[in-house]
Amino acid sequence: MKKEQLHALKDMILAKRESLEQSMTRERDSNDGDTNDSYERHAFHMADAGTDTMNREQQYFFAAREGVSMKALDDALERIEAGDYGMCEWCGEDIPFERLEAVPDAKLCVPCASQNERRR
Ligand SMILES: [Zn+2]
Repeated sequence: MKKEQLHALKDMILAKRESLEQSMTRERDSNDGDTNDSYERHAFHMADAGTDTMNREQQYFFAAREGVSMKALDDALERIEAGDYGMCEWCGEDIPFERLEAVPDAKLCVPCASQNERRR
């Protein structure tokens, strides 16, 4: 892969990571708003437990809805740093740039990925 392509992909991953982070923060902020609302209305019923867990679960949910996880993006960045980004984990072939462009955190080339799909 060309250096410029790798740079472009890294920028893309960083941008995705940032937007994921932002959407998590947004959701957390709006959740805080909800919590305060219901706290005022149902102060008596508010338990001190559960709020943190709920936020974590919702963050997970929104990350899943985005179709990318923070961890997958971090992994991809780590692979870029390590120099083995863009290599198929199964067969060691280069993953085509077009595929990485569509799925920046792809770890498998197209043939291996479709084989993986069939296995499931
Ligand atoms: Zn492969």
